[in-house]
Amino acid sequence: MSGYSTPAIVLRKTDFGDYDLIITFFTLKEGKITVIAKSAKKSTKRFGGILEIFSALDVVYSTGRRKGLPVLQEATLTYPFPSIRSSMLKTAYASYWAELINKWMEDGQVEIRLYHLFHHVLKELDAGRASEGALSILFQMRFMKMSGFGPNLQRCGTCRIEVDNIKETNMMFDLKKGSIVCDRCAGGIRHELVLTKGTVKQILWMEKGNLVKAVRVKFSPDALREGVEFLELFVPYHVGKEPRSLKFLRQIRKW
Ligand SMILES: [Zn+2]
Repeated sequence: MSGYSTPAIVLRKTDFGDYDLIITFFTLKEGKITVIAKSAKKSTKRFGGILEIFSALDVVYSTGRRKGLPVLQEATLTYPFPSIRSSMLKTAYASYWAELINKWMEDGQVEIRLYHLFHHVLKELDAGRASEGALSILFQMRFMKMSGFGPNLQRCGTCRIEVDNIKETNMMFDLKKGSIVCDRCAGGIRHELVLTKGTVKQILWMEKGNLVKAVRVKFSPDALREGVEFLELFVPYHVGKEPRSLKFLRQIRKW
C-alpha cells in the first residue's frame, strides 16, 4: 500500500451507498483523482463534514495493490470559502469553473499552474474584491490558454491584420476557428458572435501577467457582460458538451 499527501480542492462529490462518499479532487501534486471516503456520509465525525465542493484541503490517501479506488485517510480544511457557500451566484460561478476543470482533465494529469489559478479565483470570489464576471473572464481566458485552445483575439485569423488596425469597432468572431475575422476576410458571411474592440482589449488584459494585478482590471458593465457571454459560448464549444452548471448560472444571473 502506498500513501500520498497533497493539497487538494473538491471538484465533485457523490453518494456511494449508505455510508460512503466518492470524491473527485483536483490535487496539486497528483492531478485529478477520485477517491472513496469511507463512512464520510454516515458519520460526520470521520471527516468533520469538510468534504464539500470547492473546499481546499490537505489530504492523505492510499492506493491498495488490488484494483479499486484510492481510499481517503485524512483531510484537513485549509480554506472553507464561506462567502461562496452563502451566495447562490458565487456558488454557480465556482461550480461552472469546477465542472470545466473536471471535464477537461484526465485522471492523474498534473496541472500545477491551473491548480494555482483555480485556488486564486476561489479566494478572490470568496473575498469579494472583484466582480464574479471579471473573475470568470480571468479564469476562462487563462484556463483556455493552458489547455491550448486560447481564443485568438489579437488579429484576424485569416489575413493576420491586428485588431488595432481593423477600422470597424464591432468585430466578428468565428467560433469554429476560435478567432477574430475581419469584415474583408468574412466575405459577406455574418458570424453570429460580435465583439467590440474595447471588450477585446479588456479581455486580453486578463490573460497576461500577474494574477493579482489582472484581478484589478475594471470592466465597464457592457464590456463585462459581453466578455462573459462570449467566453461562455466559446469555452464550452471547445471543451465539448455544455456544462450543466452553466444552465443554472444563466438562470440565476440577472443582467
Ligand atoms: Zn482578415
